[in-house]
Order: sequence, then structure tokens, then C-alpha cells
Amino acid sequence: MVKTQIRSRGVKSQSVLSAMEQIPRHLFVPEKFTHLAYHDYPIPIGHDQTISQPYIVARMTELLAPDVGDQVLEIGTGTGYQAAVLATMGTKVISLERIPALAEGARENLQRARIQNVTVFVTDGTLGWEDMAPYDGIIITAATPAIPPPLMQQLADDGRLVAPVGTAQIQELIRLTKKFQGILTERFEGVRFVPLIGEYGWNT
Ligand code: SAH
Repeated sequence: MVKTQIRSRGVKSQSVLSAMEQIPRHLFVPEKFTHLAYHDYPIPIGHDQTISQPYIVARMTELLAPDVGDQVLEIGTGTGYQAAVLATMGTKVISLERIPALAEGARENLQRARIQNVTVFVTDGTLGWEDMAPYDGIIITAATPAIPPPLMQQLADDGRLVAPVGTAQIQELIRLTKKFQGILTERFEGVRFVPLIGEYGWNT
């Protein structure tokens, strides 16, 4: 998977590649899809949600470029796989999920994969998690119409936020960096995610 889907498409970050080589992705997909765990597409995880295609996880993590020891906030825990990649890179992860059953499943997946340093909370992630702010990195793994203001407030100086921003049908990957002079915005390729639902997301 790492060689043919990720390295071959240009992801160079050694820490991303090695984290994804180590993590048993089959422990994060529903049992009936175990045989598809390392394939090149998203997989349904129940509740109308999906675990992202491996390449997209790699790409977003490379854009976030976390350092060892960083504290990272993830919005949209899903299966816990993205959180596992971040934690394996040496970060402390706070991950927020609105669907209680998915949060519980993610906690179990992370335990089975022996991943530490991930804390999952059930909440509307568009509000962030003020208690542990500020965050060196924030990653939104659901499509959002705009960046929820509380998340920008909870981002540390020099921190980066990576998110798919656009309509419910199609988005582009955006990276915002909070600089002393203001916010640097960079735009990357088009992607397709399930919607972020909450106060600063969609309300359906
Ligand atoms: N990162 C996940 C996949 C994310 S799928 C993984 O590695 O498996 C998108 C997830 O975002 C879904 O689980 C969905 O329930 C969740 N979500 C949508 N809106 C949310 C919100 N406002 N707060 C927290 N989670 C949300």
C-alpha cells in the first residue's frame, strides 16, 4: 500500500511513510471489509461514514507536517486510523467525533493496535476542544463549507490547519498557517469527503 499508492504518488515525508507502514490498517476497518483494508479507496464504516483512502490520509498528514511532541486536534475520529498515524509520528492527539458508536469503536481499534497518546471525545468538533488548546496542528477529516472560527482560535501561533473546504459534493484541500503577520492560506488538490455536521458545519 505505502509503496504503490502513497510513495508512488509523491508523498515523501519519511515519518508519514514509516507510520503508515507500521500501522495495521485492517484493525481499523469493519470486519466484513478486512480484505479491502489496504486497497486504494475509501471504505464504509457504518452510520453513512467512510474511512479515507490511504493516499488521502498520507497526503493530509504530510501537509500538516507535525513534529514529535506536537499536540494535534483531529475533527472526525471515524475509525481512529488517522489519529493512529498522527500518534505513531510522536504527537499527542485529541480527536473529536460526533457519533458516540464510532468514538467507542475507534477507542477499541486504537487499543487493539496498541496505539497510545490518542484521546477521543464525543462532541460537536466544529467547536473544537478548548480545554486542551492551543494546538500545534488541527486536521479536519470531514468536508466543511468554511473553517469553523473556534478552531482558528484554538490553533497555536505558527500552527497549521489542514481541511477539505468546499461544497458537500466537492472540496479542495486547504492549509492555513497562523503567522504573526496574519494567516497564510495554501490550496491543494480536489478531494471528496463526507460532510462535517455541526454548529459551524452543515446542519443536516
Ligand atoms: N478520520 C477518520 C475518517 C473520518 S470520516 C478515520 O481515520 O477513520 C468523517 C468523520 O467525521 C465521521 O466519523 C463523522 O461522524 C465525523 N464528523 C462529522 N461531523 C462532525 C463534527 N461536527 N464533529 C465531530 N465529528 C464529526
